[in-house]
Amino acid sequence: MTDDLAARAVALDAADPLAGYRDRFLPAPGVQAYLDGNSLGKPLAETAARMDRFIRAEWGTRLIRGWDEAWLEWPGRIGDRLGSLALGAAPGQTVVADSTTVLIYKLARAAVDARPGRREVVLDTDNFPTDRYVLEGIAAERGLTLRWIETDPLTGVHPAQVADVVGPQTALVLFSHVAYRSGWIADVPAITRIAHEAGALAMWDVCHSAGSVPIELDAWEVDLAVGCSYKYLNGGPGAPAFAYLRSGLQDELRQPIRGWMGHRAAFEMGHGHEYAPGIRALLSGTPPILAMVPLEAGLDLLAEAGVEAVRAKSTLLTGYVLDIADEWLAPLGVTVASPRDPARRGGHVTLSRPGFGDLLQPLWDDGVIPDYRRPDGLRIGLAPLSTSFAEVHQGLSRLRDLA
Ligand SMILES: *Cc1c(COP(=O)(O)O)cnc(C)c1O
Repeated sequence: MTDDLAARAVALDAADPLAGYRDRFLPAPGVQAYLDGNSLGKPLAETAARMDRFIRAEWGTRLIRGWDEAWLEWPGRIGDRLGSLALGAAPGQTVVADSTTVLIYKLARAAVDARPGRREVVLDTDNFPTDRYVLEGIAAERGLTLRWIETDPLTGVHPAQVADVVGPQTALVLFSHVAYRSGWIADVPAITRIAHEAGALAMWDVCHSAGSVPIELDAWEVDLAVGCSYKYLNGGPGAPAFAYLRSGLQDELRQPIRGWMGHRAAFEMGHGHEYAPGIRALLSGTPPILAMVPLEAGLDLLAEAGVEAVRAKSTLLTGYVLDIADEWLAPLGVTVASPRDPARRGGHVTLSRPGFGDLLQPLWDDGVIPDYRRPDGLRIGLAPLSTSFAEVHQGLSRLRDLA
């Protein structure tokens, strides 16, 4: 019975045009199957060498001169690169800075302040916790009302649900492109259009799609977006996040953390804050240069592979997980808590059964590393550049044995 699925893994790996990229990552001794690349991407071998080189040749020798010579431009330079490779964003609209949480605050506060007559923000119950918490804080600060859409945790937010709640009071809507639990891909262009027709701004969290699912922020007419770089972009634990602000809004939206790095003339050190022109106004303090070095290596890899090829393999990987789930795991009472339609399914699959949380530790002990999401979901994350079909087969056969 298992032979068929094992043979398929062999055939899929043999036909995989991205197979060679696995060797570019550092080996993880003892790890049989890394099924959590959507929470923390693996390090590239190249990253260690680049960090060493940066520390010795740039930080170590350029010292403070490094700021004037290059580093001040990194947030916008790497932002532009990320925008063109992964976000469908023309230059001058993306910066790398802060964390996703902080950028959600900065952008969402700027957005609601730019729509002062409107008293409501629309969000959904299944969005990532930090997104919900930050909006709760902004609502409390500004006396706004949150309008919650109850999302089906097996799918995600649908355009009709958004159309039902937006209206003349809506200042902002915020959703995730790919739902962190189910992997549902929201219809960004349709929902953005609905928000715009109501006169609201549309903001998207692309943490779970950047580097995995193609994104077209410009073409979809998205107003604002945020995402993190330590998931599919392999930037490393706590790597800086990125923010996108559509060029037409850059003079209108004003983020609230007015630091010197977002000042028109940071080094004049003058009285009173004046926003820098363009996307740079989103910066607050000194950019995390050291932490951008691994991200550049991740972006180089993505540039080489191409996001379309990554997405093609991702769809095959998640499809293979569904086949295994149907054949091996469904008879054991496991259900699939992710979309079956590949067009609506992102880069991970959640498998669910009461008590699944108890399996996490024994799986980790065996070097099989999925993620756990309450109440009873095991999330199988599949980073296409670092994951093989054989690895998925091996990891899920261990799950089957323990289930
Ligand atoms: C991972 C993730 C975050 C993380 O935010 P941090 O500030 O980096 O902790 C936020 N939103 C979504 C949707 C995520 O998946």
